[in-house]
Amino acid sequence: MFNKKSIITLVLLLSLGMTARSQVKIGFEVCFTEPQAHYAEVEMNISGINKEYVDIKMPVWAPGSYLVREFSKFVEGFKATTQGKALRFEKVRKNTWRVYGSGAKQLKINYRVYANEVSVRTAFIDNTHAFLSPTGIFMYPEGYLKSPSTVTVIPFKGWSKVSTSLEPVTGQAFTYTAPDFDILFDSPLEVGDQDVFEFTAAGVRHEVAMYGGGNYDKERLKVDMAKVVEQATGIYGENPNKHYTFIVHNFERGGGGLEHLSSTVLGASHNQYGSEAGYNGFLELVAHEYHHLWNVKRLRPVALGPFDYDNENYTTNLWIAEGYTAYYENKFMLRAGFTTPEEFIGKLAGAIASVENTPGSREQSAAMSSYDAWIKYYRPNENSNNTGISYYSKGEVIGILMDLEIIHATKGTKSLDDVMKAMYLQCKTLKRGYTDAEFKSMVEKISGLSFTAFWDKYVNGTQPVDYKTYFGYAGIDVKNVNEGQRVPYLGVASAKKEGKIYITAVSRNSAAWVDGLNVNDEVVSIDGVPAEASVEKMAAVTGRKVGDIIKVTLIRDGVTRDFNVTLKANPNIALAAAFSPVASDVQKAVLKKWLGV
Ligand SMILES: [Zn+2]
Repeated sequence: MFNKKSIITLVLLLSLGMTARSQVKIGFEVCFTEPQAHYAEVEMNISGINKEYVDIKMPVWAPGSYLVREFSKFVEGFKATTQGKALRFEKVRKNTWRVYGSGAKQLKINYRVYANEVSVRTAFIDNTHAFLSPTGIFMYPEGYLKSPSTVTVIPFKGWSKVSTSLEPVTGQAFTYTAPDFDILFDSPLEVGDQDVFEFTAAGVRHEVAMYGGGNYDKERLKVDMAKVVEQATGIYGENPNKHYTFIVHNFERGGGGLEHLSSTVLGASHNQYGSEAGYNGFLELVAHEYHHLWNVKRLRPVALGPFDYDNENYTTNLWIAEGYTAYYENKFMLRAGFTTPEEFIGKLAGAIASVENTPGSREQSAAMSSYDAWIKYYRPNENSNNTGISYYSKGEVIGILMDLEIIHATKGTKSLDDVMKAMYLQCKTLKRGYTDAEFKSMVEKISGLSFTAFWDKYVNGTQPVDYKTYFGYAGIDVKNVNEGQRVPYLGVASAKKEGKIYITAVSRNSAAWVDGLNVNDEVVSIDGVPAEASVEKMAAVTGRKVGDIIKVTLIRDGVTRDFNVTLKANPNIALAAAFSPVASDVQKAVLKKWLGV
C-alpha cells in the first residue's frame, strides 16, 4: 500500500522525528584531576529529553574487538542533577543507570572512569597522557544513538595536544563534534604532549600522533606510510575520508591495532623502527589497520553497524573482514615495494602452514570461527588449538584461494581486488553492510564461476585444500618439505616456571594426547634424563624413531607418575614455494595480475 495520504503521514512523522531529535543536545566535558591514579572525570549535559526517566548506558564492548569487556565496571561516582538539584536514579542493568528527571529540561550526569589497561581497545590514563577509547569513556541516553554530541577535553597541566579524527569546533579549544554516537564511539582521542606530524596521500591529510617516543625517522615514515595509503586507495578507487588520524602508542614492548572509521590506534615498541624487520612490521600494521577503513568499516558485514552496544554482534564474515585484511597487508607491502615477490609467497606459505598445523582447522570452519569469536577466539584456553581456527589465518588462506581462482577463471583480467571494490561500492549505494550471500554472488558475477562448492568446502566446511592446483594457476610449484620425513613427535608445548617444567598444550591425536599427558603436568624426566624447557625437543632427540616408547616421569596433583608414550610421526607441514621456470603464458598472466607488480 502506498497512497498519497500515507506519504503525507510519513513525511509528517519523519519531520516530527527529526525535530524531536535535533532538539536533544548532548555535550561531554572530560577532565583529569588525578591522572596519576588513572582517572578521568566525565560530565555529560543533556537537554531536550522530557521524559519520566532516561536510561543512561555505557557500551559493553569496543567495535572491532569481539569481546564483551563490561566497561561499566570501571565507572564510579555516578551522579545526576538538574540545575544543581540532585535527581533520583537507580541501576537497572549492569551498564544502565535510570535517571528520573520529572520532566527536567537539563540533565547533568557526572561520573569518574578508572582507566588503567594498556591496549588499543581500552582507555588508559596516567601522568603522561590520556588515551580515551570512546566506548570505555562515554555514555549515551538510550534511544538517542542518532543524536549529535560535542566533546570538550580539558587537558591536564602540561598537556598541550588532542589528536582525534573528530571534527573540531572552530574557536573553541579542544572541542569536537560527532554527528551521532556511532561516530563518537568510533573516534578515539589521544590527549597529552605527543609528537605529531602530517603527510598528504591520496588527496587526504593524514595526522600521525606518536606517544611514548621511539627511534623512528619521521621523514621516512611520511614517505612510506603514504605509499601504503596510495596502494590501499588504489584498490577501491576512492578514499572516503577528508582527514585521517594514526594514534601510535610506543611502549617497551607494544603491538596490536584497532581500526576506526577515520582513524586507527596502533601499538608499537620504542625501538622497533631501527631494524628492517621491525620497521616493516610497523608498516604491515599500518597497511592492515588502514585497509580496515574500507574492509569492515564501510565494506562491512551487515551485522557490524549500526552496532548494538549492549550485546554481542554476531557475524559469520570475519574471515573476510579480518582474514582478507591480513591477506591484503601482504599485497600492499609487495606493491608498495617493501617486500619482494619471493617474500610475498613465503609469507602466504607461512599462513597456510599455520592453518594446516593447527588441529582445530579440521574441527571449526571459518564461518563458525567468526560467529563464535566472542566465546572462542577472544577467550582462548589450553585446548583452543585443538578445537578452533583463527578467522585471520583461515580467512587469509581463503583469500589466496579465491583470488587465484578468480584470476585463473578470467584469464588474468579480474581478481579479488575487483570484488572488494564492487562490494565497497555496493555497500555505499545500499547504505548498509553485505550479507554472506551477497558477497558470494559478487564473487560469482566477477569470476563467471559458481562458488557454491568453494563456500561449502572452505568457508562453511573444513575440507583439505589442494594447494598445488591453486598455486599452479600462477605457475608456482609448492611442496611440503616435511613429506615422508617421519620425525618422531610427542605433541606438547611446555614452559619453565620457577625452575619447573610444565606442559602448556597437548596437540590433538598426538602421542601425548593418546597416551594421556595433560596440560599443567610437571615433567620431571624423560627416560631418566631431567626435563628441559622444551619437552618436545627432548622427546625427539636423534636416535629415537617413530614407534619408540619413552618413559615420561611427571608430577600431577602432587603425585609422581610414569607414563609410557609411543612416539608418532610429526604431522606438521612446511611449504616451500618456487616460481616455475617453465610457466605457460596463461600462468604468467595469472601471476602478473596476482602480484600486481
Ligand atoms: Zn584487523
